[in-house]
Order: sequence, then structure tokens, then C-alpha cells
Amino acid sequence: MSADLSAQLAASASRPWTVMEVCGGQTHAILRWGLDQLLPPGLRLIHGPGCPVCVTPAELIDGALELAARPEVILCSYGDMLRVPGSAAGADLLGVRAAGGDVRLLTSPLQAIALAQGSPACQVVFLAVGFETTAPATALLLRQARQLGLANLSVLLAHVRVAPAMEALLQDPANQVQGFLAAGHVAAVMGTAELSELVARQRVPVVVTGFGPADVMAGLLQLVQLLEAGTPALANAYGRVVRERGNGSAQALLAEVFVVMDRPWRGLGTIAGGGFGFAPAYRGFDALERFGLAPAQGGPQPQTPCISGPILQGRAIPPDCPAFGSACTPERPLGAPMVSSEGACAAYYRYRRQAP
Ligand code: SF4
Repeated sequence: MSADLSAQLAASASRPWTVMEVCGGQTHAILRWGLDQLLPPGLRLIHGPGCPVCVTPAELIDGALELAARPEVILCSYGDMLRVPGSAAGADLLGVRAAGGDVRLLTSPLQAIALAQGSPACQVVFLAVGFETTAPATALLLRQARQLGLANLSVLLAHVRVAPAMEALLQDPANQVQGFLAAGHVAAVMGTAELSELVARQRVPVVVTGFGPADVMAGLLQLVQLLEAGTPALANAYGRVVRERGNGSAQALLAEVFVVMDRPWRGLGTIAGGGFGFAPAYRGFDALERFGLAPAQGGPQPQTPCISGPILQGRAIPPDCPAFGSACTPERPLGAPMVSSEGACAAYYRYRRQAP
């Protein structure tokens, strides 16, 4: 199937094009299946910032580390977050746990409810990270916590929105992206309206795309056809999952619990409308306010060899990093893109590492 689509791509592309796959899941599929090696000459793929773990600001990780070290706090989050370094080299939540902090791994945010109920003398803090795909689960946690009147549970919120980040990349004077493969799982939740609006404003084609090798190739084919035709339109190449209106229940939950706000993305700076904050009725669950922490401002990157910023902006690829595969490996990561299961550095390390 991918070989057929490769032949169709070659027949469709009459000139060079540069396109970005937004989601880290798509980056992993491209490298795992060698899809970039099936493309016609001149069709260039840029890896996008679609890894929520990777774009979480170091300052917010620092806040999580500070909270996790407090004796009264149980800090809980998804597995990848436990190994993401903060500003100081080698500082991560696993290290705080090794030093005696109470850090728990959750597979669902709702597990924080039982944790808070079972530990009434402790403050349970959930470090909530992810795109619109996981934000509804955090919203459900907050709704249930409010209904139960849980006073010992709060959320350190780092949920981000993908469409504003795509627009910010296009507005960068150094932008090279001529079209996007959009993240199918985000569109499954949010629908396609905000992508249609982005296309209308920015006049670039966008194709909603899935994550299997044939999905990615089919999305690329549609994108190249739109580019060749000079048609800045939105297309849906993931129709078996994505509906125009998305998931109405999830959207209603997000609208109840969160408000859209500007948010700093690691490597991209502060993005207008780039994330979620607490709606007024839920502000009492904001861990920043409860513990008197300053919100992340997206300040300067830590002084490390890590070039995750340029990688997340699509200006560099992991092998450009001097630490790739030597000082930085999945076992000893220096940056989030090597930690996360959606990170570009982890993908290159797993599928493209040169033999030593
Ligand atoms: S290889 Fe490691 S140090 Fe280099 S950019 Fe990736 S995460 Fe950062």
C-alpha cells in the first residue's frame, strides 16, 4: 500500500515542497517505516512540535520538582513526565523520588481521586500535560474533584492547543513550511473547524492525517495534490476516525473546566491561545495558586548542549545535536525529546541511530 502511494506521490510532485508533520506520533511512524525514503526527490518533511511532553517549559518542571520535594505533597503524573529534566542538569521527578519525595506514576488522571481520598493528610498534585487529546481526562478529574469537594487535590496545568502553535510557526519570518499534516487524534476531539479557520487565515493547505504508514502516505499524497493545484484547503485523510464536529462531549467538558489562554511552549516561546487555563469555578484547584508558585514565562532555555528548541521548531533534526546518542540517550536523557515516546530524538535514536 505505501509503495503504491509512493508511486502516486512521485507522479503528483512536479517541484520541490516542504511540509511539516505536526505530531510526534507521525514522526515516529515516518522513521519507523522509512517513509521519508519513499518520497520523491524534493519533497521535504520537517518534524513538528507535536510532543506535549517536549514542549512543557522547564520552569514548570522546576515547579513540579519543588512541589514533589515537599513532605506533605504526593506528586503524580504520566510516566514520561517523571524523567523530563528541569532547568538543572539531571534534575527530574525520579531523582526527587530517589531522594525521598512521594512521586507516583498514574495511567489515568482519575486515579488521583482515590489517591487524595486515601491520603487526607497529604496534598495530591497532578501534573497535567498533553494536547486536546488528554485535556478532557484532566477536565473530568477536575469536575469530579469539585463534585466531591476534595480540598487536598490540585492540578499543575500544562495542557496546550495545537492549532495556535501551527499558526505561530507559519508567522515566523524564517518559516519554510508550505503545508501541514495535522494531528488526527487532536482533530478527532476538536473537529476540523479551527483548522479550517487556520487555512482561511494563512492560505496554506492542511490535511488531517492518521498515524499508520499508509495513513501518513495518504495524507502526504493529498497534501502534495493540494500544493500542486495551488489550493489552500483543508482535507481529511483520516475520515474513519475524524468527524467535522469532533467529539462534542469532550469539547463541552473542556469548555466547562478550562479557558483558552496564552501559554509558553518550550522552544517556541509564548503562543497566543496556545493552551488551557482554569475556568473561574475551577481556579481553586490551581496548584500554582495553592502553593504560591510563579507561572512559567517561557524564559531562556537551560544552559545545556540540548538543541530541543530548534528541533521543535523544525530547524534542526536530532543528529544535528552534538549530544545525540553520546551524552544523551534514552537511558540518560538531557532533553525531553529523548524521553518522550513521541519525541523526535527518541525516534531517531530508536530507528536511525548509526552503529557506533
Ligand atoms: S539529543 Fe538529547 S540533548 Fe540533543 S536535542 Fe535531543 S534531547 Fe536534547
